[in-house]
Amino acid sequence: MIAGIDLGTTNSLIGVYESGFPTLLADAEGKRLIPSVVYFPEKGIPVVGREGLRMQAFHPECTFSSVKRLIGRRFGEEGTQNLGGTVGSPVTLPIHGQNLTPEEVSSEILKKLKSIAEERLGAAVDRAVITVPAYFNDAQRAATRKAGELAGFTVERILSEPTAAALSYGLDRLQENAKVAVYDLGGGTFDLSILRLDNGVFEVLSTHGDTRLGGDDLDEAIAGLILREAGMGSLNIERSIRLKQAARAAKETLSTQETTVVLLPFLEGEKSVEIPLTREQVEKVCAPIVARTRALCLRALEDAGLKSEQLDQVILVGGSTRMPLVQKLVAEVFDKEPNLSQHPDEAVALGAVLQGAILEGNLRNVALLDVTPLSLGIETFGGLMNVIIPRNTTIPAKAGEMFTNAVAGQSGMKIKVLQGERELAMDNWMLGSFEIPFPPSQKGAARVGVQFSIDADGILHVLARDTATGIEKIVEIKSAVEVSDEAVEAMLAGSLEHAFEDMDARIFTEARLKAEEMLPAVESALEQLGSELSEPEVLEIKKQSSEVISALASKETNRLKQALTALDHSTQTLATKLIERAMG
Ligand code: AMP
Repeated sequence: MIAGIDLGTTNSLIGVYESGFPTLLADAEGKRLIPSVVYFPEKGIPVVGREGLRMQAFHPECTFSSVKRLIGRRFGEEGTQNLGGTVGSPVTLPIHGQNLTPEEVSSEILKKLKSIAEERLGAAVDRAVITVPAYFNDAQRAATRKAGELAGFTVERILSEPTAAALSYGLDRLQENAKVAVYDLGGGTFDLSILRLDNGVFEVLSTHGDTRLGGDDLDEAIAGLILREAGMGSLNIERSIRLKQAARAAKETLSTQETTVVLLPFLEGEKSVEIPLTREQVEKVCAPIVARTRALCLRALEDAGLKSEQLDQVILVGGSTRMPLVQKLVAEVFDKEPNLSQHPDEAVALGAVLQGAILEGNLRNVALLDVTPLSLGIETFGGLMNVIIPRNTTIPAKAGEMFTNAVAGQSGMKIKVLQGERELAMDNWMLGSFEIPFPPSQKGAARVGVQFSIDADGILHVLARDTATGIEKIVEIKSAVEVSDEAVEAMLAGSLEHAFEDMDARIFTEARLKAEEMLPAVESALEQLGSELSEPEVLEIKKQSSEVISALASKETNRLKQALTALDHSTQTLATKLIERAMG
């Protein structure tokens, strides 16, 4: 079993693929988000998660948080400025007279996740997919892999976070070349990535971000607001950590409520302070911070060479995107409502789980759920069903064919969109019909391209275009994928029951169309070139032609097919002469 792990700056999550579903696993307290905080006591084993977070207030010097910022870094690089080690050597963190690497600290978080999973599943979990930001370089990816190995995992893949998020939103089933913006505002970092779907795999077109912009900054701004409201000055480190925790709780509450009350029992000795806050007040202090993401979004779009209207989807990742303020900004910057269908703080982990399932080959069953229940096509000459997207095709899907006019002087084509498994159009269900006009032309001269595409939501778009004039029409049909099981069964039973006569009807119709084309052609060729043939040859052709006519009337498929073969045979010399004359 391969676990999926989101090793986050603020929180981490682990999940597995269980009985066909990606599932995130909760610890003994029922919590899935595990704070990425490690407290190292003087003696004994490190304390990770919520307990570590609580210890941070008492022992900030023995507690590490946000080590993700340091993993794979060297002193002197971004984020290490206030650590003061020898420039150029790998970052280490001093603790109780020892020096730990960030990957060693991270491995404690991973060990905790591993134990949560093993406890929940009652089995060893020793393979993992671990996510990293898209901008992580080789050293940062290698260090993350190392952390996984130190925790006892075989690391099957290091996966980019935006790619994982897109997988969890099911965007790998969008049409080829689809473009997606992933807006990720977490606790400490902001990332905006633009992805393109290429052969079912996401390619990162561009990424921009700020490693110092996230929910923590909002907490700080809200803490400042609370202090001002309470009319207080600065606090000692322990109290300011608690104040920030209270600010964070208020912020999270205000994502769903308009007002809240912050209770601060610790600020002034015995006396507890209550500060009422409104969403409006909080949005006012947060707005300038959130607004800093705008320029980064626009730059990422520009780097990808895209305009916002070319994006197929905008998805949200990171707990801070639960704020209405953030969602409003995203909608405005991209001129598109963001997709809110997944929990933003679980999307990356779920994507890692899905990637694990794909690597194990477990995901095929799921993909099969999204298939066309019945064939889709259009009616063609002679009332036949012409299948364009066969039954059981995985969606999204796209296919097309070129059609022409059956009759000279015809000035348009009726496109009847059909669903079903029967050979004759009239036995299938008509989902819709429309007319595409073209200038009157000779038989077979018009060229109308018909394209069927079914998007990830199961909506069928039928496009027909006259290639000569470029005139096109497109219709949208909603019921192409959502068909009741009973209806599907009835259709399949009908096609089985009538399989023989249906097939016979199709072969007869095809033969009839051929006969209708051949008879006048033979007649006109005889008129032009009959004199160059021997009399027995002409007689034979006439005899076979009239046999075709009587076979047509008899409606006997085999008789018609034989008659056509004989006519074909008898006209070989005539056909050769026709060709010679054309070439001459
Ligand atoms: P992440 O890094 O994705 O785990 O996001 C953590 C950040 O999301 C923290 O700053 C949280 O305070 C913030 N967050 C989580 N839930 C909410 C919420 N409902 N409203 C606002 N921010 C939230």
